[in-house]
Amino acid sequence: MAIQTNRLAAPVAPSNGAVTAFRPLGLREVRLTDGFWADRLRVNRERSIPHGYAQLQATGTLHNFRLAADLATDGYRALGMMFDGPFPFLDSDVYKWLEATGWELGRTWDDDIGNAADEAIDLVARAQRDDGYLNTFVQVLKGGRTYADLHWGHELYCFGHLIQAAVAWHRALGDDRLLGIATRAASHVDAALGPRGRPGIDGHPGIEMALVELYRVTGEERWLRLASHLLESRGRGLLGQARFGAAYWQDHAPIRSAPSVAGHAVRQLYLDSGAVDVAVELGDEELLEAVCRRWRDMVATRSYLTGGLGSRHRDEAFGDPYELPPDRAYAETCAAIASVMLSWRLLLATGDPEHADVIERTILNGVLAGVGLDGVSFSYENPLQRRTHRVAEEDGTTERSPWFPCACCPPNLMRTFASWPAYLATTASGGVTIHQYASSEIEAPVGSATLRLSMATDYPWSGRVVVTVDEAPDAPVRVAVRVPEWSISAIASGAGEPPHDVTGRRMAEWTRRWQAGDRIELDLGVVPRVTVPDRRIDAVRGCVAAERGPLVYCIEAADMPPGLELEDVRVGSPQPREVERSDIAPGAIGIRLAATASDEVDAIPYFAWANRRPGAMRVWVPTGDAEVPA
Ligand SMILES: [Zn+2]
Repeated sequence: MAIQTNRLAAPVAPSNGAVTAFRPLGLREVRLTDGFWADRLRVNRERSIPHGYAQLQATGTLHNFRLAADLATDGYRALGMMFDGPFPFLDSDVYKWLEATGWELGRTWDDDIGNAADEAIDLVARAQRDDGYLNTFVQVLKGGRTYADLHWGHELYCFGHLIQAAVAWHRALGDDRLLGIATRAASHVDAALGPRGRPGIDGHPGIEMALVELYRVTGEERWLRLASHLLESRGRGLLGQARFGAAYWQDHAPIRSAPSVAGHAVRQLYLDSGAVDVAVELGDEELLEAVCRRWRDMVATRSYLTGGLGSRHRDEAFGDPYELPPDRAYAETCAAIASVMLSWRLLLATGDPEHADVIERTILNGVLAGVGLDGVSFSYENPLQRRTHRVAEEDGTTERSPWFPCACCPPNLMRTFASWPAYLATTASGGVTIHQYASSEIEAPVGSATLRLSMATDYPWSGRVVVTVDEAPDAPVRVAVRVPEWSISAIASGAGEPPHDVTGRRMAEWTRRWQAGDRIELDLGVVPRVTVPDRRIDAVRGCVAAERGPLVYCIEAADMPPGLELEDVRVGSPQPREVERSDIAPGAIGIRLAATASDEVDAIPYFAWANRRPGAMRVWVPTGDAEVPA
């Protein structure tokens, strides 16, 4: 196997020939130092990942690999059922957790996590059949009959996560145990369902983007061809209607012509992520534009304020345009993660900061709400409203859960946070672009030299960001910083120039011969603001939401005066004020809103809801009778 020597420790690493605007930086090049994201990643490492391993043990998900490996004989274990049988996709939870451990261990070794991962990798290796096939559900319960249920079996979906775990271990640690397993599994798929196999696609996309990454790691074009083949085979009726219709699994229209996102949100976004990966490797502008078209429509008409996606519970699907009910929002944590994955690929491909804006809104609201502040409690659905009198009823409660029968979301969060520093900054010819703000050290190749920067900020609580040049080539270098779409007052100064207004400019950038100690200073104007919804979203007409910088806020029952129900609150128009909320995070800021039912109510960041006693919550709050902000 021709392993490329450049092991960029990042989940997406386009090959040298790929047509992209930006090149990613990996976890060795971008290191968090302190502050908001460093704290969240520490919780992910110290709490979430060990908790994930304990849950994979306790729920039997790892045990199923022992069964497939003939190391145990008692029954297949699953907390959830589908079509009168156990869930068939649970192997993927082990793979996502392994991916998280790969990124974490690559950053800093830890014996406990490393030993747990070793045990899991050993079980995965033992469970693999001699012919390369590997799926505990099929091997243990279906007599080893492969690809017999492509609609619901999730076999290729599981392989996708296996490949992504293998890529992480290869790139972060240079450990190729999983890569060997994943390559044999991919060969099995290629022989059965590849260009020379029988027609067939998996009901749940995901393997496509993984295969492109396998191509990027190995240099073997076979995997790129297989990814392309599976993508182009979709939308041609191979899966048909089944119970939710062909759009549910994006089999209703080919990927080049489907006009808008449709069906199951996670499936659509994983599919389009793979399409971008193939498009940039093949220089396929038509395919890239098709995804961009769907993405723009999705952001304009089908996205919640939090970046959450999918308003229908029945089939976990996108709704119609502007069908965005806050109380009935499904907004699966995985859909928000998938949106970050797709937007990141589009950012690399196009260089357009609108994709970085969506990543920021989504990661800090729709994604981060998926995990409790303790790191060991999770939410699967992320509605924008919970009613007082529906608490603990119907689908979902206000209480987070340590795990789920379908446990896709928790390990998806773990791998996302473990690789988050790779989303902060990129390189392009002759420079570096900073897309997200976090205290960090950035080391980027520029030509044959190195540019080293350190970023210091209390973001998202403060909009002040200082970037200091620590080392620079003896040549002009471009440093660019995103100006967020929400910023209505952005001031920048670079290397001693006077501060100037960059509001609405999208990017602030400087090209110069930098000296160590030169500074770029930004003030992005992080102040509370009141947001009015698009008038076409019927479900929240007459309401407003509080935001501050990149954060969406909500009011929660735990902050209400005694005797006041959340539904009785109306907010007035006077300017919201800031209040200190160090109970949420060091330096956290809440928003105090003028209200009619009580004099004022306190709003907290949406990501921090459901961390106290169970109770009602809402993002969109009705306004008082007369004064609706324009
Ligand atoms: Zn999920």
